[in-house]
Amino acid sequence: MTSNNHYDVIIIGTGAGGGTLAYKLAPSGKKILLLERGDYVPREKDNWSTRAVNLEGKYNTKEAWRDSEGTELHPHTNYYVGGNTKFYGAALFRLRKEDFGEIRHHGGISPAWPISYEELEPYYTEAEHLYEVHGNRGEDPTEPWASAPYKYSAVSHEQRIQHLHDDFARAGLKPFHVPLGIRINEPNARKSLCIRCNTCDGHPCLIGAKSDAQTICVDPALEHENVSLVTNAKVMRLETNGNSREVSKVIVERNGTREEYSGDIVVVSCGAVNSAALLLRSANDSHPNGLANKSDVVGRHYMGHINSVLMALSKCPNPTIFQKTLAINDFYLGSRDWDYPMGHISFVGKLDADTLKAGAPAIAPGWTLDLMAKHSLDFWLTSEDLPDPNNRVTVDRDGQIRVSYKLNNVEGHDRLKAQLQKAMKQTNCDVHGHECHQGLFARNLYLGQRLPLAAVAHQNGTVRFGEDPKTSALDRNCKAHEVDNLYVVDASFFPSSGAVNPALTIMANALRVGDHLLERMK
Ligand SMILES: Cc1cc2nc3c(=O)[nH]c(=O)nc-3n(C[C@H](O)[C@H](O)[C@H](O)COP(=O)(O)OP(=O)(O)OC[C@H]3O[C@@H](n4cnc5c(N)ncnc54)[C@H](O)[C@@H]3O)c2cc1C
Ligand code: SF4
Repeated sequence: MTSNNHYDVIIIGTGAGGGTLAYKLAPSGKKILLLERGDYVPREKDNWSTRAVNLEGKYNTKEAWRDSEGTELHPHTNYYVGGNTKFYGAALFRLRKEDFGEIRHHGGISPAWPISYEELEPYYTEAEHLYEVHGNRGEDPTEPWASAPYKYSAVSHEQRIQHLHDDFARAGLKPFHVPLGIRINEPNARKSLCIRCNTCDGHPCLIGAKSDAQTICVDPALEHENVSLVTNAKVMRLETNGNSREVSKVIVERNGTREEYSGDIVVVSCGAVNSAALLLRSANDSHPNGLANKSDVVGRHYMGHINSVLMALSKCPNPTIFQKTLAINDFYLGSRDWDYPMGHISFVGKLDADTLKAGAPAIAPGWTLDLMAKHSLDFWLTSEDLPDPNNRVTVDRDGQIRVSYKLNNVEGHDRLKAQLQKAMKQTNCDVHGHECHQGLFARNLYLGQRLPLAAVAHQNGTVRFGEDPKTSALDRNCKAHEVDNLYVVDASFFPSSGAVNPALTIMANALRVGDHLLERMK
């Protein structure tokens, strides 16, 4: 190893966590290396092809994992500069203030975080501004307090969604605009980076208008001379020094050859499944259970949300292009007749026939897939799954990742579906009145997958942070309790998952850990 391979900070993974941290640390002048197993997403027309992206899975990893039975599964996850944010729907929510405390669910307890909402709040604001989130404060009935308004007003609803909004509001609900990280300028469309297309959620943005971690953080970070990126660099193992309290070597496989790097500080940010796998693979004589895993929590408490895609079929067509603008949080913490949290209702990107072929719903009598896609409102329901130590990531002897996962806390999710059904029955249109709504049809998330697709998309919880080294792997600064220069800043640190999309919380936390590291390196 040459001293050229020594850095002040090495960040492994360039997604929501790693990319955001790199941006925060870049102006410090410290010598920073980003190691990313993937390459840049190629810019090509297929970026916006639902067939290529959803049906053929062109950009998904071809890696196979195993489920608890040992059956191979193909995870819907993406290894690229920018990580999964290249493909995300850019719905950028704060967790609720209540999510930071202990919450009793029908299926058990959602544990408290070691930090309060108040501690993360300034970083939520910083992340919202950095990722150019468009939203309106004061509409979402469960939103926590914020120290600043959004910089950009919310993305407008198209006509069909505005009608739905009005129907829901008449039924007594409080529908609101989804906070979105798309760089749209609605008052001046000619100057807008974003063209409001129908292939955003799940697709990379061909024209770089989505606020993803590459565009917003990694590219600007690389403009600093002190920051460098090595792509196609899969980190295989972390080695510790003699006293075992420091990561001394980062072992990389790149184009079939082994490379070694070292850093004063090493930050793991490979996504919740791969970060746990990396720490487990790094077991040695001093850390026999895996690195930083005396507590035996590494890999455990895997969470991924309970998700459903429900197509509400109407007699009226739904010509919406960008559908993901409306959400409902009225049932997030419970309701008048149910004391437990149910979750969050929003939308996926508009489904089309090609996408449906990759996970077809039961076909409504008298309809074709194409017709269903043209008439459906495509809801995305999220409820919290609870951290079960038996839901876990392990690494088989041959090095393959195994994810053992059993859904829990489903009663609240079923009640959330019933609430949506009730609300849809109250909708009205000028032509068909209350007869417009034809029913809810579940899009099959399981086709060709052993885990629900979304269980991998929202993966979190496998290297939890906490005050007690017996029950957590990381301290409140996301530093490993047992290793002095090792941090984890992807979604692994979540002790509970809440029921809103995770990315903004990962970004905000990376900014918080960034402040801690800047202080430490002073
Ligand atoms: C289709 C889709 C839609 C989504 N929509 C939303 C949404 O609307 N809102 C939201 O909040 N969230 C959404 N998500 C989830 C969101 O993208 C993730 O929560 C977020 O990207 C996770 O950030 P992370 O830093 O934990 O991991 P990632 O962003 O996945 O980054 C991990 C990085 O580490 C790299 N890596 C992995 N292993 C190694 C290794 N061994 N060596 C080197 N590099 C490695 C990966 O290539 C990747 O770049 C969506 C996800 C998907 C797939
Ligand atoms: S142009 Fe806008 S809507 Fe289309 S993918 Fe890019 S950010 Fe999303």
